[in-house]
Amino acid sequence: MNEPWQQQLRGLLTDPVELAERFNLDPQVLKAVTERYPLRISKAVLDLIETPGDPIWRQFIPDPRELEATGLVDPLGEEDLSPVPSVVHRYPDRALFLVSGSCASYCRFCTRKRRVGCAGSAPSFRELRAGIDYIAATPQIRDVLFSGGDPLLLPDAVLGDLLDRVHQIPHVEILRIGSRVPLTLPQRITPALCTLLKRFSPLYLNTHFNHPRELTDEALAVCNLLADHGIVLGNQTVLLKGVNDDPEVIRELFFKLLKMRVRPYYLHQMDLVRGGEHFRTPLNCGLNIMAELRGKVTGMACPQFVVDLPGGKGKVPLLRDALSQNKQKTYIRSAADEIIDYPDCV
Ligand SMILES: *Cc1c(COP(=O)(O)O)cnc(C)c1O
Ligand code: SF4
Repeated sequence: MNEPWQQQLRGLLTDPVELAERFNLDPQVLKAVTERYPLRISKAVLDLIETPGDPIWRQFIPDPRELEATGLVDPLGEEDLSPVPSVVHRYPDRALFLVSGSCASYCRFCTRKRRVGCAGSAPSFRELRAGIDYIAATPQIRDVLFSGGDPLLLPDAVLGDLLDRVHQIPHVEILRIGSRVPLTLPQRITPALCTLLKRFSPLYLNTHFNHPRELTDEALAVCNLLADHGIVLGNQTVLLKGVNDDPEVIRELFFKLLKMRVRPYYLHQMDLVRGGEHFRTPLNCGLNIMAELRGKVTGMACPQFVVDLPGGKGKVPLLRDALSQNKQKTYIRSAADEIIDYPDCV
């Protein structure tokens, strides 16, 4: 554990009392939230907070509304789609491989709040082995997405070994990694890591930036390093109330990402996750933003606006036409042509 990024990991802010002192908050309230959903904030993230309530603050500082009991514990029905604990297999040709149980900072709106950062969420070597065996025994899978938690919190040796084993499976043609460390722990993107990742081409890395203020010089430098090593970069943004629910903010974010050689891939409607309802915008917010983007920026900077339907019904790209709404209810047609009753919010 001697690399600078590993030392940084040991120094993360995890104590609600320390956080309360820093920002003059009520420690009892913070404690109550963090007993249920863990607290972790890296130095890179802390340094980005300018004032309480700003877009970085809202994403990472615990909020008592997280304890509200509405919403779904497992909004995407992932537990039912897991043939083994480390794999989520919803679409025939691709699967999620959950290789890590933690992240360098915990986003308060995380879809996997139920487990990420919680005791027992780190997969055991046995579970990882079972995941590799499942993928190897399932020839339809040609695209494996390393996810978690954050896969890049694994040490190079462990990550390299897992990538190697999956890469060697003859029917796996593409590897993908989803990671927020370019924002939360840029030190993690070392030249050694990039050299390691380069061996697994074609490898796609999807970052997760939600606000233009996150596109710091460090983030730019590490994205450049990755891109220079032939890693294709995409970005997934979550649409969040009070953070980025503004066409101007999103336009600036997506254009700046493109300039960093990071292609905006998805804009996600906030999932119906328990403890995250205060972040959820009405569907019309995302639809309006997409309408505003068109014509103002190149299509290269326009991702798909997707809603991941509850109960494991899958991602659906939304355009205004795809939505039928009346005053009381919203319905979305799933990819399987089912009409899903969707709890929109005002
Ligand atoms: C989002 C997701 C994928 C990947 O979907 P793409 O549209 O190919 O990026 C795969 N499996 C699960 C379970 C997912 O939620
Ligand atoms: S980085 Fe991703 S997995 Fe980790 S807490 Fe944030 S949203 Fe969840």
